This record gives sequence, C-alpha cells and structure tokens, in this order.
Amino acid sequence: MCLKLNSKLVGIIGGGQLGMMLAEAIKKLGGRVIGLDPNHHCSITHVCDEFICASYDDEEALRALCEKSDVVTYEFENIKGEHLKMLNEEYNIKQGIQSLIDSQDRLTEKNTARKFGLKTARFFKCDNEADLVDAINNLGYPALYKTRTEGYDGHGQVLIKSKEDLAKVRPYFNTNAKGIVEEFIKFDYEASVIMIGDNKKIVSLPVGHNIHKEGILDICEVPFDGVKDIEAAMKEASKGFMRKAGYKGILCIEYFIKDGEFYFNEMAPRPHNSGHYSIEALDYSQYDLFARYLLDMTYDEPKLLHKAIMKNILGRDLINVDYYLTQAPGFLHMYFKEEAREKRKMGHITFLDMDLKTFMEIEKGIE
Ligand code: ATP
Ligand code: MG
Repeated sequence: MCLKLNSKLVGIIGGGQLGMMLAEAIKKLGGRVIGLDPNHHCSITHVCDEFICASYDDEEALRALCEKSDVVTYEFENIKGEHLKMLNEEYNIKQGIQSLIDSQDRLTEKNTARKFGLKTARFFKCDNEADLVDAINNLGYPALYKTRTEGYDGHGQVLIKSKEDLAKVRPYFNTNAKGIVEEFIKFDYEASVIMIGDNKKIVSLPVGHNIHKEGILDICEVPFDGVKDIEAAMKEASKGFMRKAGYKGILCIEYFIKDGEFYFNEMAPRPHNSGHYSIEALDYSQYDLFARYLLDMTYDEPKLLHKAIMKNILGRDLINVDYYLTQAPGFLHMYFKEEAREKRKMGHITFLDMDLKTFMEIEKGIE
C-alpha cells in the first residue's frame, strides 16, 4: 500500500464511538474531520477538528457540514430519506445512500438480501392482527416480532413463544409501527462479514464469532474455528451481494450459522461493533480501510496479525474493567460517554493472542 499526503476534510454525520474511531483512523492518515451530532459531549468531540452540534433532521446544519467537507459519511443510521437524497445529489457522499436506505427498513433489507442471493430466516410483514395470525400460522412458535425501523440492540423485538406472547406484540399496532415476524433460528453461531470497497475492489475482514448477551454484542472471537469450512463461501457470497446490490463504502452483514449454512440477519453500512478487534489484531483495521476508501487511497485485504478476543464494556461492566486488565494485558478503548447506563456501550477491551476458553476462565472470576 502506498501512503500519500492527504489533508481532506471528512464530514461524519453521527458522533458516537464508531464515528470517533473512524475519525482517529482518518487523522492518522493526515485527514481532518468535522462531526455532526445533537450531543455537545459525544465521543467524536474528543477527536474531531470541527464539530456542529445539531439534530439529524436539521437540514441547514447537514448542509453546512457537507458544504465544508471534501467527502461525507455517516455512522448514524436513521437520517431521514429526504435529507439523504438531497445531500447525495449535491455533495460527495462517496459510499452513496442506497445501502443506508435499504438497511433502514428490515423488510426491504431482507428482500434485498434474498434478491441478491443470500438466504434469510423466513419472514412475513406484520402491521396488524390479521398479519400476525397469518405469520404465526405459517411459522409456528417460537417466532420473533421486530419493528421494521429504528431497532438496535434488541429494542423493538418481541420473542413469541406461545399464544400468550401475542399480547406483547399488539401494542405496536397502536403506535403505527410497521413490523415483521420472522422464524426463530436455533443457530449454532453468529458471525459477521465486514467489507470495504465498491464494484472495482472489495476487501473483507476475517470472519469473527459474535456472542450476544440479552440481544447485545458481548464478545467477539477471531479467528473462529466454527466458520473455518465456510469462511471463504461466506465472504464470496457477501461480496457478490454487495456488488450486485451496487453498494459502496463499508458494509457489515450479520449472519446466523446453522448446520454449516449461513443466514443473513441484518446489515449495517458503517463500521461495526464486531470489527473493533481489528484495530489491534489486523494490519489494517475496519476504520483504517474505510478511512483509506474515503480519502481515495489504496486498500488491500487486511491480514490477521494476532488472534483476539474483544469484550464490550457496557455500563454494568465498568466495575470489572480493572479486574479484566489485571488478568491479562488488554487494549482498553473508552468512549467518553458522560452517563453510564446498565446496557449502554461505554468502551471495549481487545485482548491479543487470547482464545475464548481462556477468556471464559477469566470471566469466572467475576462475582
Ligand atoms: P443490533 O443492533 O445489536 O445488531 P438489532 O436490534 O438490530 O440488534 P438483530 O440483530 O436482528 O437486532 O437481533 C439482535 C440479536 O437477537 C441477534 O444478534 C440474535 O442473537 C437474536 N436474534 C435476532 N433475530 C433472530 C432470529 N430470527 N432467530 C434467533 N435469534 C435471533
Ligand atoms: Mg444485529
């Protein structure tokens, strides 16, 4: 890879930890960053060169950010479609907006995955009582209700284990929220593929093992033996999907793996929590590669330098940080969030040259 001087100004819509770590990578390459977020004290303010404090639907502020920037990206996923279209027509959003628009709606997202060759769990649209009855008649129990828009970390989901649980879905019909009901997959594993590029060249990170706790990513393990035999096929299918859908920039696809088959769950057109390990464990992290993409620099398939375990630190894990770090040397990343809530992502630790078994032994020492 050749490094050239780069002083471009990158506009990032959204100032959370993903924006912050992307900003760090851009700055390492000589680029500059301007962030936009409604919170004055958000993570990116600790790194960026300029900051606009404004809501995501403040058209004037979005325009001001784009006006100043050489290239614009986003880490916040719920920017309104009308604003996205306006910005995309007038400014340089190098990754485009199609992947973002498609990923904002679970129904469109899953239909797109199928259209371009990826398997998904069976799903049905569910906007009212009749849809719900129809979906359950087809899928049986257990099934999962999910709102089509604005879900994250398991929010807006109802696990329907029996007839009694249907009552928990009904309140959503009163809020006008549109939803889907999908088959519950008793998966063996969850894993994700993170890709950077466009139709000229797409590279991908090693496929990690994602372990969730209460619907939130808890631990990532890389490399992952459970995907050894299907990793190449997963990467190829994912790259084929990205190419056929015409998506550009960065894309993470979350998969369920069952009996050696992989099922698309959802996608995110931004750096992903399951790729945090890459900062220390790869020669080029997801942030480095995407920064290089945005800055029009060359990028190549990243290489795994160390096996790694990434542990998310939620508010409730803060009291254990010192314990973890006395057990093994780890790379701690804190996100400068002012308020610690039990399930809020506050930071993460990456342990190099550690396997899952060793980490689980360390976890046993808690409590
Ligand atoms: P996140 O923002 O953390 O990615 P989300 O709220 O967007 O989450 P999903 O990724 O769809 O929602 O679901 C969160 C987790 O719930 C999944 O990672 C998985 O562990 C579980 N889950 C979701 N859908 C299914 C399913 N169809 N079958 C079994 N488990 C599921
Ligand atoms: Mg998910």
